[in-house]
Amino acid sequence: MFVVKTFRFVQVPLNLQLRTMHLLKNKAYINGEWVSARSDKVFEVTNPATGEVIGTAPDMDVVDAQHAIDSASRAFATWQDTTAKERSRYLRNWFDLMVKNLESLAKIVTLESGKPLVEARGEVFYGNSFVEFFSEETRRIQGEIIPSPVANRKILVEKQPIGVAGLITPWNFPHAMITRKAGAALAAGCTCVIKPAEDTPFTALALMELAHEAGFPKGVVNVVTSSRGNAPGIGNLLCQSPLVAGISFTGSTQVGKLLYKQCSSGIKRLGLELGGNAPFIVYKSADVDSAVKGAMGSKFRNCGQTCVAANRFFVQSDIYDSFVEKLTNEIKALKIGNGEEPDVQVGPLINQAQFEKVTTLVQDAVSKGAKVLVGGKGAPQHGRLFYEPTVLTDIKDDMRVYSEEVFGPVVNIFRFNTEEESVAMANNTERGLAGYFYSRDVSQIFRVARKLEVGMCGVNEGMISTAEAPFGGVKESGLGREGSHHGIEEFTYVKYVALGNL
Ligand code: NAP
Repeated sequence: MFVVKTFRFVQVPLNLQLRTMHLLKNKAYINGEWVSARSDKVFEVTNPATGEVIGTAPDMDVVDAQHAIDSASRAFATWQDTTAKERSRYLRNWFDLMVKNLESLAKIVTLESGKPLVEARGEVFYGNSFVEFFSEETRRIQGEIIPSPVANRKILVEKQPIGVAGLITPWNFPHAMITRKAGAALAAGCTCVIKPAEDTPFTALALMELAHEAGFPKGVVNVVTSSRGNAPGIGNLLCQSPLVAGISFTGSTQVGKLLYKQCSSGIKRLGLELGGNAPFIVYKSADVDSAVKGAMGSKFRNCGQTCVAANRFFVQSDIYDSFVEKLTNEIKALKIGNGEEPDVQVGPLINQAQFEKVTTLVQDAVSKGAKVLVGGKGAPQHGRLFYEPTVLTDIKDDMRVYSEEVFGPVVNIFRFNTEEESVAMANNTERGLAGYFYSRDVSQIFRVARKLEVGMCGVNEGMISTAEAPFGGVKESGLGREGSHHGIEEFTYVKYVALGNL
């Protein structure tokens, strides 16, 4: 007689899986070594979906940051002289290891940022692509020879690495914001000191373990972890240190403005990827189903916590009812929950401050007459930081959701009649990162794409980021570009050499 044994599949929670993972580090990475803070202080990192402590990371301060700057500065002396082919090899090794460890990296991203595992895999895939792209692009940092007005002279132009780069990154894309900056900086021949966000240090440290395995020389990449309390001191040191040649920052406009000021004393090179307030316009000629699909992708990725998320929807009167109905139905069907669970589409907000901000902005709109079609409140049955996907209509320009970046799962919809009106409303903001519109009228496509005051424009597309394209904003959304060959230019300067008496 056969005895049939049956096994029940038990889902092992990510935090238990992680304990055995070699990528989960609780030390910072400076000069090729895993180190504690000189003060021995640590801070706790929690899973926003459950509130559980995942682990601790060193709470570093300016003393540790100076140590990292010194190491990066020493490493620059030799790293700047590596050939493009050598740098390409290091970056390719790093990329190959990231690909091999994609699943582990994604689990760490989900655990500390709360985004659904499927999105975390998408982020790692996207983040990896920058390292792959820059491993190739490093060989194309070209100089030029310009015809000289003097017969026996040559005008030679070459691009040189700027030096040590300070990279300050946010929590919403803990992997990709690092690789987008570090990939370009290292490809250009710079060394880096990276300061990740308090909420998400473990992804940064996992990337350092892989950089270590990839064989980068000591000091070429460094990560200084810190709690929120120490971030301003470290940021100020990076901006003021004469050993740091440039800063690349992704985060809020408020902190970006502060860094701009701090960098002015040393006339430091500065890249700023700041907040957005993206318009999403749907014209009457649009394919409404396609616009709804684009809107869902643009708005609900990472629970609305992306800088390029559609923040204000403008819909032409003729198709307003149909668009709003279809979008609302899609939103009602979204599955909220812990990102570790299969099929979850909307995770928690990152922290209490973010939860309070979203709650306050929605309350402000409702108190001034906005209508709630769905959602409009927290979802405590899932956890403390969950917020229901929300649709607000009857929005007016005195409501805070009109001018402020919500950074949450909230759709604000306005009705408009003419193209002029839509463009004027879309541009009526200090921000200018991304903008989207849906139209099948070719003349309108060219007109509106030109008139929107944004650095990036999606036409009949809700997701536009890719390593090959320049990412960045205008107005108060920032300075400079990341990704593409423009991303490397931010880490090089142009040297003119006059060869005389030839
Ligand atoms: P944030 O408060 O500006 O923080 C971003 C980073 O700066 C974190 O590492 C933070 O460290 C650090 N930081 C905070 N205060 C600092 C200071 N005084 N000096 C130096 N560094 C400092 O932004 P966030 O709230 O985390 O991120 C959300 C914002 O980022 C949104 O506005 C969003 O639009 C923007 N964002 C922009 C892009 C883009 O590419 N344009 C991409 C993603 C996000 P701590 O975490 O330790 O405080």
